[in-house]
Amino acid sequence: MPEILTQTSEEISVELKPAKAKPKPGKLFIGGEFVNALSARTFETRNPATGEVITEVAEAGPEDVDLAVRAARKAFEEGNTWRKMNPRDRSRLLWKLSELIRANAEELSELETLDTGKPIFESSRFDIPLSAECFEYYAGWPTKIAGETLANSSGGEALVYTLKEPIGVCGQIIPWNFPLQMLAWKVAPALACGNTIVLKPAEQTPLTALRFAELTLEAGLPPGVFNVVTGFGPTTGKAIVDHAGVDKIAFTGSVEVGKAIMRGAANTLKRVSLELGGKSPNIIFADADLETAAKFALGGIFFNQGEMCTAGSRIFVEEAGYDEFMSVLRGRAQKMVAGDPLHPKTRLGSLISQEHLDRVLNYVTIGRNEGASVSIGGERIGTKGYFMKPTVLEDVTNSMRVAQEEIFGPVASVIKFREPEEGIREANNSEFGLAAAIWTRDIKKAHLMARRVKAGTVWINTISTTDNAVPFGGYKSSGFGRELGRAAIDLYTETKTVWVDLNG
Ligand code: NAP
Ligand code: MG
Repeated sequence: MPEILTQTSEEISVELKPAKAKPKPGKLFIGGEFVNALSARTFETRNPATGEVITEVAEAGPEDVDLAVRAARKAFEEGNTWRKMNPRDRSRLLWKLSELIRANAEELSELETLDTGKPIFESSRFDIPLSAECFEYYAGWPTKIAGETLANSSGGEALVYTLKEPIGVCGQIIPWNFPLQMLAWKVAPALACGNTIVLKPAEQTPLTALRFAELTLEAGLPPGVFNVVTGFGPTTGKAIVDHAGVDKIAFTGSVEVGKAIMRGAANTLKRVSLELGGKSPNIIFADADLETAAKFALGGIFFNQGEMCTAGSRIFVEEAGYDEFMSVLRGRAQKMVAGDPLHPKTRLGSLISQEHLDRVLNYVTIGRNEGASVSIGGERIGTKGYFMKPTVLEDVTNSMRVAQEEIFGPVASVIKFREPEEGIREANNSEFGLAAAIWTRDIKKAHLMARRVKAGTVWINTISTTDNAVPFGGYKSSGFGRELGRAAIDLYTETKTVWVDLNG
């Protein structure tokens, strides 16, 4: 992935194709059927690149959430269709889902781009194939989930072993920046472990989750195992968090909502895993390959318009390498052109909404007022859609708001440091701890620094890579629990201990 992120539009050749996606009005997906909300209420989903309405989607109230939870509970507790399914058959179902995502990849990519404003290049090369890969990866797990046989020192003879059991009904609440991928990260491991699901996509981006729901029917997933309730956070989302029939909440989104979810889930002691925001340091030491570091730094912050929880949004550059690094960064940032997200050459799409664009632009003003200088960009592009120029703030100090608060847009805050100790200290001086990147040719320094960074992921001489086999999650206010890899199997299972007395 990182190599591709370093290309400018001039370096890419493309082929234009007619659109395949035909978004239709969205209904709720409950118990294997598409249904209207009981209140018959709907809301609009819009294309951020044009501001136009794409279609209407059902708005789930607490009564619809209740139906979805009941359907999920029934599918979990009753019959032999799901929980007692042969693990090999569960594997096949997950694999089938990955095949169906691939078979419908063009349509899903277009839906994702229409709903989010992200370039079709990204949806078709990253979001959709990586979602399919996530189902492939977890298709391998059902046959490998196993407990242990344990040593026993309690006195007397006993056989002690553990069982890994599904948790039950999982409420999964996801954001708008990587809609299908966030679904895959949560749904694939939860299904692999034998749980059932009530998923709430973000209000701005319900379309791929609803199309995925159709694919679960095609794959033959038993009714009620996977349910989708579209709607708003404070109503639909809250109803999932409050519902006594939900056993676990998995959430990706803002710190503020993460805290509210944790408070809400406390009443019924639900298991909670949270993947929240970040302000990830990208630390460039003077002994790094500065040209490569600068190219990758662009991908680290401007991929997905910077609407990324792992965005390398605080770029720390050691003084001795500053001029060389910055001249490449500025030069290439200037060449990044925003454009129609459906055009395959576009590398920078629209932000998600007017409200979000205003918030991001306001941070540029805040930065200026704090003494930062805007060396590149800093402005909206045009008046249609919510496009913004890639923006580089220099003369930033780590205590400024633009260095401490998550902007979640195409704004890099560049901070100069004099020597490595200062760099690492300032990088750790943050509320967040999701990820960090370190650039140096000194292998010892790289590993020593990796140990000292307080973050869930550390990239050395690369940035922004993830893999379905590799755990992902945060330190500090970036949340807790690790998604992906084996770690997500622990997230979606309970461990049961069984004691068998063997005394004669
Ligand atoms: P958000 O408000 O935290 O929303 C994430 C999800 O939670 C959405 O599905 C949202 O529904 C739902 N939600 C909101 N309030 C809720 C509540 N009280 N109870 C249960 N669910 C609730 O995030 P956002 O509005 O998408 O973005 C705001 C900021 O969050 C961004 O600017 C960024 O800083 C951060 N963010 C982080 C990530 C990440 O990957 N860590 C991703 C996206 C955003 P609605 O869609 O209806 O609001
Ligand atoms: Mg939308």
